[in-house]
Amino acid sequence: MKKTDCLIIGSGPAGYTAAIYASRANLNPIIIEGLQPGGQLTTTTDVENFPGYPNGIMGPEMMEDLKKQAIRFGTEIISGFVTKVDFSDKKGDYHKIIVDEENTYMSKTIIISTGASAKYLGLESEKKFMGFGVSACAVCDGFFYKGEDVVVVGGGDSAAEESIYLSKLCKKVYLLVRKDTMRASQIMQKRVLKTPNIEVLFNHETKEILGDQNVNKIIVLNNQTNQEIEINATGFFVAIGHKPNTDIFKGKLNMDDAGYIITKPDSSLTDLNGVFASGDVQDSIYRQAVTAAGSGCMAALDAEKYLSEFE
Ligand code: NDP
Repeated sequence: MKKTDCLIIGSGPAGYTAAIYASRANLNPIIIEGLQPGGQLTTTTDVENFPGYPNGIMGPEMMEDLKKQAIRFGTEIISGFVTKVDFSDKKGDYHKIIVDEENTYMSKTIIISTGASAKYLGLESEKKFMGFGVSACAVCDGFFYKGEDVVVVGGGDSAAEESIYLSKLCKKVYLLVRKDTMRASQIMQKRVLKTPNIEVLFNHETKEILGDQNVNKIIVLNNQTNQEIEINATGFFVAIGHKPNTDIFKGKLNMDDAGYIITKPDSSLTDLNGVFASGDVQDSIYRQAVTAAGSGCMAALDAEKYLSEFE
């Protein structure tokens, strides 16, 4: 059993930034890396919108740099997965975390930075071209398809928003909606429909994503007529929703209906004493590396303030 002041669950930009701040404040943080060390950015290629990298950086490389920076100030990195949490609501008390079903950690503060996972269609070709034409983030990757034709999948507000964003960069956007209506809000639907270079294909589903090294063609099926069409496109954006990685915290913390952890306004505080949340696990709106990093910083400062109350 190991005891510490600050334990961080998750190793994306939020978790590592929390670790950098917490270690520099002498909180001796321990990070439990989780199933995907480095988080969602390890599945992307170029990151060009994180401040401080004028020539961009590869996602996995950026996460390695963040890890090194956290280690430099004394963060302990544990490769493992949290299998059980036992939170105490008593101020100043230790929370109990079990890693890989056998190792126990006790910590006065817990920072949850477990992120969210984009939902994907589940096609083999989608996996094959991940980072080479397939993306789940138009704001992150849209720029690479400037002047080209792209496909967006989904019928909700995310798909509408991503299509509109891409329509400003790309020559043409094909939006594939599997039903004959969109789920997006009326105002977003109207905006999509009146954008001249967005073509909405209702009742259409993705059959296959084709390409050589990068995506160059999408085979699409009309689920009413069974007719297939081919779309020549270089980008394929999946916008069918995200799932916050909060299954293990269900019933233990305040969450919204979609499972995002609810934090108190302008802070990282959850409804439990000494438990903080940062990054995509509590943010269904911005979902950017830089906003996650910012909220990781907030969580470390909030944890430090909480601990200083007991000194
Ligand atoms: P939603 O769950 O609202 O919508 C998901 C969409 O993807 C649905 O249209 C669904 O189709 C479709 N879909 C799901 N699985 C598949 C599949 N396998 N193949 C094809 N299509 C599929 O997710 P969003 O991310 O769009 O939105 C999440 C929440 O965030 C919502 O509450 C939304 O309002 C909010 N949001 C708000 C924004 C804003 O206000 N600016 C921007 C973005 C999100 P079907 O309808 O057939 O089930």
